[in-house]
Amino acid sequence: MSPPGTTPDADAVDDTCPCGSGSPYDGCCGRLHRGEAQAATAEQLMRSRFAAFAREDAAYLLDTWHPSTRPRRVRFDPARRWVRLDVLLTEAGGMLDSEGTVSFVAHHRRGGATGETGELKEVSLFVRDDGRWRYLGPVDASLD
Ligand SMILES: [Zn+2]
Repeated sequence: MSPPGTTPDADAVDDTCPCGSGSPYDGCCGRLHRGEAQAATAEQLMRSRFAAFAREDAAYLLDTWHPSTRPRRVRFDPARRWVRLDVLLTEAGGMLDSEGTVSFVAHHRRGGATGETGELKEVSLFVRDDGRWRYLGPVDASLD
């Protein structure tokens, strides 16, 4: 960690949360991944799940998957890196809702900085169960 006022070094840059908040990972999705906090909204859960994909945190992904649609395991493509998340639209999914959707584009890249890029578009449905938001699945995966 750099003291305040110094130029960010490579470690500090790498420390930025993959979810796109611009905050350091530890105080952002890291708190959710470590179980110290829970997502308050569907969008927050979406962002933390993207960060979990980027960091290959299968345990968190499974834990936040609704039991009715949860896969037995999560496989990560070793050649694919998740580099950026754009949340396009959220509907409901707030503190007082029991359901919500998040439309997003997740950008990925193969190999290094010059690798082929691609994107995944999805409208995800989230439900709140016992006060906890969970991912149910895509509403419509063919949005192109
Ligand atoms: Zn984050």
